[in-house]
Amino acid sequence: MDRERRRLVTGQVAGIDLGGTNTKYGLVASDGRLLSEGVAPTPWSAGREALLGHLKRIARECVEGGGAASIGIATAGWVDPSSGEVVYATGNLPGWTGAQIAAEVSEAVGLPVAVENDANALAVAEFRFGAARSARNFVVITLGTGLGGGCYIDGKLNHGSHFFANAIGHMPVEPDGAPCTCGLRGCLEAYTNAAALLRRAPQFANAEQLIHAANGGDESARAAISAQAVYLASGLAAVVQLLDPELLVLSGGLVQNNTLLLTRVREELSRRLTVWDQRRLEVCASGLGYHGGVLGAAAVAFERC
Ligand SMILES: [Zn+2]
Repeated sequence: MDRERRRLVTGQVAGIDLGGTNTKYGLVASDGRLLSEGVAPTPWSAGREALLGHLKRIARECVEGGGAASIGIATAGWVDPSSGEVVYATGNLPGWTGAQIAAEVSEAVGLPVAVENDANALAVAEFRFGAARSARNFVVITLGTGLGGGCYIDGKLNHGSHFFANAIGHMPVEPDGAPCTCGLRGCLEAYTNAAALLRRAPQFANAEQLIHAANGGDESARAAISAQAVYLASGLAAVVQLLDPELLVLSGGLVQNNTLLLTRVREELSRRLTVWDQRRLEVCASGLGYHGGVLGAAAVAFERC
């Protein structure tokens, strides 16, 4: 892209959210407005080359469709943000460990590319566009099939020494408890994700139905969410004791339209934390909605490219 054209599009970037089922993408303005959007199935089982080809196709579509100064990509797995390489992905994502996402996509489209873990990217989106705009120390939790997290400490996203920080879903809450997808037992995720919620009220076909029933007053659905909140608050209490954040942002499919969960998490946190009144800890639901992942990927591009 020549300099003049690049100058014209510096106000917008492409965000690509490589999700478990679908890849959502779009052009995003610097104020967080979504200017265009698209979605395509993610070919996870097809292996690394097919996935990289998939990302390159979408990146080209974004660039040709309206121009972007740079590209941000959010993916499952742990990412070295300086190289844009996946340093580790679980066996659910065959071949994804070692994928040089930034180098490959950047070479294909001739633009700078930034890559981040999807939960971390969501934290960047909250910091730039969402509930955490005025926060310095905050934690974003994403709750759905799994439980992910992203932490800002003193205004900076924390990656840890080896990019494995923020694995809040795999903090132990029950020694040798229920098996988790990570291979360990007793992880917070195993007690709070969608599968755990449905185990407590198996008459519902999915979490959305269960939450809808709870909102309508169904006692078994409300009890299931309440039990989930006890575990979620136990895990979050450990995070709060460690980091003393000013804000917890809850996001993901299990949080949408679910004021009961939010209320119960607040109640349980207040019972489980010391100096509750002095903390003035705010617990809120994300307002970024369905496109939060795309906004997260875009926010990473705005910050780093
Ligand atoms: Zn685990």
